[in-house]
Amino acid sequence: MARNGLLLPFALLTAFIGGGPAMATHPPDLGAYHTYDELTTELASLAAAYPTRAQRISIGHGWEMLGEFGQRQIWALKISSDVDKTEAKPEIVLVGNHHAREWISVEVPLAIGRHLLDNYATNPAVREVVDSKVVWIIPMLNPDGHAYSATTNRCWRKNRRNNGDGTFGVDPNRNYGYQWGLASGSSGTTSVDSYRGPFAFSEPETQAFRDFLRSRSNLRAVISYHSYTQAFLRPWSYTLDFAPGNPPPPAEPLLKDLSDELRSRLQSVHGQVYKDCLFQADREPSGACRSPPHYEASGEMADWIHHEFNIPAFTIEVRPLSSSTWPASHSCPGFELPESEITPTVEENLAAAMRLIHYAQPGDIMIRDHAGDTGAVPSSTLTPSGWSPVFWLSPDIWSDPPVPIRGDPATVTARVHNLSSSPIAGVTVQIWYTDPSITTEFPSPYATLLGQGVIALPASGTAEFSVPWSVPSTPNSVGEHHWCVGVVIKHPTDLPLSTQAIYSNNVAFHNFVPAELTISPQALRFEARNTATIDMDFDVRVTTDRLPPSWRVVLDPGRPKVLKPGQRYLGFAQVAIPAGASAGEGTVSIHGVLTPHHPGVRRPIGSGVTYRVRYVPPDRLPAEELGLIRSHEDLLKGQQRLLEKLGTVYTEVLTTRGMSDDRAVKLAEELQTLVRRQADRIDSFEDFLRRAEKPRPKQP
Ligand SMILES: [Zn+2]
Repeated sequence: MARNGLLLPFALLTAFIGGGPAMATHPPDLGAYHTYDELTTELASLAAAYPTRAQRISIGHGWEMLGEFGQRQIWALKISSDVDKTEAKPEIVLVGNHHAREWISVEVPLAIGRHLLDNYATNPAVREVVDSKVVWIIPMLNPDGHAYSATTNRCWRKNRRNNGDGTFGVDPNRNYGYQWGLASGSSGTTSVDSYRGPFAFSEPETQAFRDFLRSRSNLRAVISYHSYTQAFLRPWSYTLDFAPGNPPPPAEPLLKDLSDELRSRLQSVHGQVYKDCLFQADREPSGACRSPPHYEASGEMADWIHHEFNIPAFTIEVRPLSSSTWPASHSCPGFELPESEITPTVEENLAAAMRLIHYAQPGDIMIRDHAGDTGAVPSSTLTPSGWSPVFWLSPDIWSDPPVPIRGDPATVTARVHNLSSSPIAGVTVQIWYTDPSITTEFPSPYATLLGQGVIALPASGTAEFSVPWSVPSTPNSVGEHHWCVGVVIKHPTDLPLSTQAIYSNNVAFHNFVPAELTISPQALRFEARNTATIDMDFDVRVTTDRLPPSWRVVLDPGRPKVLKPGQRYLGFAQVAIPAGASAGEGTVSIHGVLTPHHPGVRRPIGSGVTYRVRYVPPDRLPAEELGLIRSHEDLLKGQQRLLEKLGTVYTEVLTTRGMSDDRAVKLAEELQTLVRRQADRIDSFEDFLRRAEKPRPKQP
């Protein structure tokens, strides 16, 4: 390869190298591998050759001061059509050479970048990528270390920090800020190859990469190239022991799907197997690894990126498979990949990278988050008045019955859309349910898979998939009857990159509030509590579904209009059914709404309860129902006590609102009257029960 090295004066160089033999007076020719200077020139010439599609940008620099030549830059090549105008496009980052001696890890992302630029005019797949995404190529994150490996110590791994104790270098891939500093998978000893540095993000290289990633607005996935051993690593790397204190990341099922698909694409090129057994999740149930080796690394890049951005981040160890074929005379067995293997290594990794880049654009199969969802992401945005549009009631997920009944079986159905004009077979549909206070991301180890199947989608059409659901009779972890049914759809050409519904049109969910089956039309209980630290305006909204038209829902007129911090209100509504009405049923939802009692803040919060109300006239009551009604008598008596208590609650509310004593007493008396009237109604209901229990005349 043409030499573009700068001629550096020897005296200057000896001022900053530490240990080892004196380096050459100029960077040597590394043959087909790029030196830092050659990379600098090549990226500049690519940007010059394709000015509308490529830019060379420095995102930072290394430690070493090179006098009049400045510091070595960490170069990024930004690739996209209309490279100056890319705001809305999904962004993917391919980074190489965290570790100095892993020269092949420079060549892989660089060659992928060159492929995207050179083949834009002739290759439709490349054109699609460059038109619709931004691909960032950062071939050499550790240019100081690379130069030291090229000139002085072929097997140098770290950067070139002067540790001040006669040793040099921090391992950049142990310096990231998630789970940094663990004794396992990194070292606190400065002389060791996996020295993690004095603190997280202590190094200019990791700071530069961190700040670059944080400045991206549309980041979707990151691959970091390393060598060797031919393996895909995915978070978490900090532990090999996922249970019980170190659970896998919530997105593990998604990451596993992606890793398997990318490895299979890679293998299809030259038949090379890249292993997938570096983490606990990939071991046999016995704990044995399906194919060694194990690997543990704390403060590692992919862990931090996945934790920080909740996106897929992979570390790919490329060729060779092992160092066993190297003669002992080699200075750095395993890292000295023969030049003849550069091209096949690039080719197989290009296939995997193109697959991941492809997934960054919403694909042809989709499930909607709301009625207006076109498949673009994000499908909803946070506005001053809340998320808009609402994305937690997917119209493509429903249950039968429409309001599930607590403790009863239901059927949930997902509808999948095909946005393309060709049929798509082999679409996997998974239907999950969760406690939404634990997660609303799918797939997830913290969700329950209700079932999955494979369906075929007609051209530009839809298909449905259903599973049975045993609706829980018990409340969720925060005491609410509130469950989230999530759906994940996937196809080898269209895997989700996110477990979050708004960021993937392959993921959607629908929140359900299962109804309580009640046979008491008299009192529907509900509770409101102000858990905030400020006064809240209190309102009650009632919605009904298929209630017989002559039935009316009556709310207690004495309910408070404001709830103080910590104040709890136990309320009830009644379903008034006209005398002589025939049997009927319907659904009543009572929703408490709390709005901050504060000028300028109008974001209501609240939750509700849904009742299934069924009425059977006394003379039509089957005998088996009487037992059920009888079992509700104790409940009714409890409600009577509650009603008495209610009068006290009202009095407290009125007093705290600063009313005059006379007015408060008068209102309290009115409320007591109301309470007595309610109690009378309960008495009359008990009369009704007694009447209903009388033996009915036998049918002739
Ligand atoms: Zn490495």
